[in-house]
Amino acid sequence: MKQTLLRVFLLLFIPFTYAQVSHPTLDYYLPDNVSYNPEIPTPQELLGYVPGEWHVSHDLLVSYMEKMAASSPRITIENRGRTFEGRPILLLTVTSPENHKNIAKIKKQHAALTDSGSESLDTDTIPIVTYQGMSIHGNEASGSNAGLLAIYYLAAAEGPAIDLMLENVVILFDPSFNPDGLQRFSYWANTNKNQSLTSDPQDREYREVWPGGRYNHYWFDLNRDWLPAELPESQARIKTYHAWHPNILTDHHEMGSNSSFFFQPGIQSRTHPLTPKLNQELTAEIGKYHAAAFDKIGSFYYTEEDYDDFYYGKGSTFPDINGSIGILFEQASSRGHIQETDNGLLTFPFTIRNQFTAFLSTIEAAQAMRIKLLNYQRDFYASSRSEAGGDAYIFGSKNDPARAAHLAQLLQRHQISVYEADKNYESKGLKFDKKSSYVIPKNQKHSRLLQGMFEKRTTFKDSLFYDISAWSFPLAFNLDFSENAPSSLASSKIDSVSLPTPLTLSKSDYAYLLPWGDYYAPQALNEILNAGLRAKVGIQPFTSGGVTYDYGTVMIPVQNQKMNAEELNQFLDKVAKDTHLSINPVKTGLTDGIDLGSRKFIALEPQKIALLVGDGINATDAGEIWHLLDTRFHISITKLDTKSLSRTDLSKYTTLIMPTSGWGGGIDESSGDKISEWVRGGGNFIGFKNAARWMKRQGLIDFTTVETDNPATNVTFEQRRDFNGAQVIGGAIFKAKIDRSHPIAFGYDSSEINLFRDTTLFIETDETSYKNPISYTDEPLVSGYISDINYEAIKGTRPFVQQSTGRGNVILFTDNTNFRAFWYGTTKLFMNAIFLNEAM
Ligand SMILES: [Zn+2]
Repeated sequence: MKQTLLRVFLLLFIPFTYAQVSHPTLDYYLPDNVSYNPEIPTPQELLGYVPGEWHVSHDLLVSYMEKMAASSPRITIENRGRTFEGRPILLLTVTSPENHKNIAKIKKQHAALTDSGSESLDTDTIPIVTYQGMSIHGNEASGSNAGLLAIYYLAAAEGPAIDLMLENVVILFDPSFNPDGLQRFSYWANTNKNQSLTSDPQDREYREVWPGGRYNHYWFDLNRDWLPAELPESQARIKTYHAWHPNILTDHHEMGSNSSFFFQPGIQSRTHPLTPKLNQELTAEIGKYHAAAFDKIGSFYYTEEDYDDFYYGKGSTFPDINGSIGILFEQASSRGHIQETDNGLLTFPFTIRNQFTAFLSTIEAAQAMRIKLLNYQRDFYASSRSEAGGDAYIFGSKNDPARAAHLAQLLQRHQISVYEADKNYESKGLKFDKKSSYVIPKNQKHSRLLQGMFEKRTTFKDSLFYDISAWSFPLAFNLDFSENAPSSLASSKIDSVSLPTPLTLSKSDYAYLLPWGDYYAPQALNEILNAGLRAKVGIQPFTSGGVTYDYGTVMIPVQNQKMNAEELNQFLDKVAKDTHLSINPVKTGLTDGIDLGSRKFIALEPQKIALLVGDGINATDAGEIWHLLDTRFHISITKLDTKSLSRTDLSKYTTLIMPTSGWGGGIDESSGDKISEWVRGGGNFIGFKNAARWMKRQGLIDFTTVETDNPATNVTFEQRRDFNGAQVIGGAIFKAKIDRSHPIAFGYDSSEINLFRDTTLFIETDETSYKNPISYTDEPLVSGYISDINYEAIKGTRPFVQQSTGRGNVILFTDNTNFRAFWYGTTKLFMNAIFLNEAM
């Protein structure tokens, strides 16, 4: 420790102008003894510098990729879509010019390895396919910068060795898995660069501002979205993946600056049990090629001690449930251009060279292990065909067909076949209506992937997880679900699942009713209220015209509105079509139950929503909310930066949302007081997870937590990390009872709900029972890992607190209702907190 401090002391503030850093040369990167075609433009000819001198922007990366495709018959390029910020999502295909002439045939032949009848194929004659992608975390930029060298090498290297490689390998190359993040980070690193480089880690160059370049536009971690594929970048990738069935997929990252270089396999005890053992053995065999290549250039590395292959939503784990080998690379990060570390000076070019080396050793391994990996893939699909059950999954939702349709669409992104139900079906008290249910036979090509998406699991070999321990999609979507339906229920296959289209709305002169169960009902309500129309929410069920309306039905009167009856009809018809739901006209106010003129219809106000973002707020949790409201419900929100709160006029907003806290220090005291004052004056405040502690300190809300006591009795120094790690809830699914008569639960037709939780904040229930509309059951764990001590603590507690403070309303969720854009099942809780706060 002392030595490190001394070294840092000696090296700090001394400008470094090592030629290798400020002016790296192409020779530094490229393998020896290879000649290069002089007709192929080097990166320097386009960029004006050799890679490593500056951080490449995504725009320039695209330009160079296009130039390479135009210059070399070995390379084709395609744009597979656009990011949220409009950047192209590129794919380059690299192979011999001869293979390019037959590329469609090669693709088809390779895909045939995954189909029945594959025994007759001669794998000796089939090229292997690698899919190599860079910098899914935009501020882990050595990958994308190495991509410049990778593509130059593939285009320009000459000789029989490269010719042979290109005959045997098809390389799918994505130079930037996260274009928006890369662009944001390159701007940061370049604009803060000194001419006289500084290695001081405290320099602004190494301290990005919130939210940093790791995430995409809506601050999602794209390396968690390979399974749900809710985001455009992932959707493009998944399409390529399933079209090509690559045999190796690599995912190039960066980690802490004091590390070396990591390549998989990761920690073996944490491998997902559905992944074949041979997958990890092959990963280790591929690792020998990386090791040899790193030994040759003198770079240090390690394997097996970190990271894992558990959550299939990560790029390096997703391939493992698809008959392929996913490989994670983690390079110690220089973040900017040069940093002092425990391993001495870490330069940007050094990190680029390591990534480029791993890129080439992957191709070398692919070529050498070609037949073995092709056979592995063929065997994987053959054995999954023979193991697949003969029955089917069925899921659906009678009161919310859109939510069920979205899960069906998710499956279709993964080429999983979805069928209509032949007839109504009943199992274990659940009734599946044939009109709103989907049948998924297990015996299909991606049966293992399907199992990995749908299964529940509560026992584990290890108690530590690099990421979440559960993601079971039918639970995440809170759908009626059975896993043992007869496959004969499947009728016609659906090519492309679409959301419901309502019939044209007939005109009423009295009122319209909007059932609240539909996923998009809050969007419809928002449009109605924003148009200046009056709408009320019914707080009790009733029957009108033979139709039963549940808690939370929204009623829009026809008289005394800003629009006449005709205009209102046309407007609501458009709203219903835009939001894929049905609005019903009614002729009379008399119902079975509360009449439409009842005081149990409560007037709703248009919501002006502000979301706290910036330092002190967790970026991904904030981004999930921004994305949900903006892209799914088309609700315009204001993002308020915590830094400028003191100069903000809060009176413009009706609802203020505080996501959980993150790095950066939280909200300063005067801003906190300002928020409290706004709440007491009548604001609707919604806080998530760790925001609870700030809310309590601020006197906005009161609750008692359940504290756990877990003394380390028989734990050695070496075991301490695992011991403490085992107490973390990385992400698991818990069941809660809901009081359907409370407005927070309006829209749900079941008395139980599945919640996603990744905190250990346990709140005791209130002694007044109706203040506990959501509370965990006595055995709440449905899927995922929780330690015994935490499990005892969570039983019977509540994840939701609501209280009136002054004239305002305060709501706390300890769980994440918006997790990673795929937790459709609890969206309605969050929407109720926004739109129905007046009824609470
Ligand atoms: Zn990363």
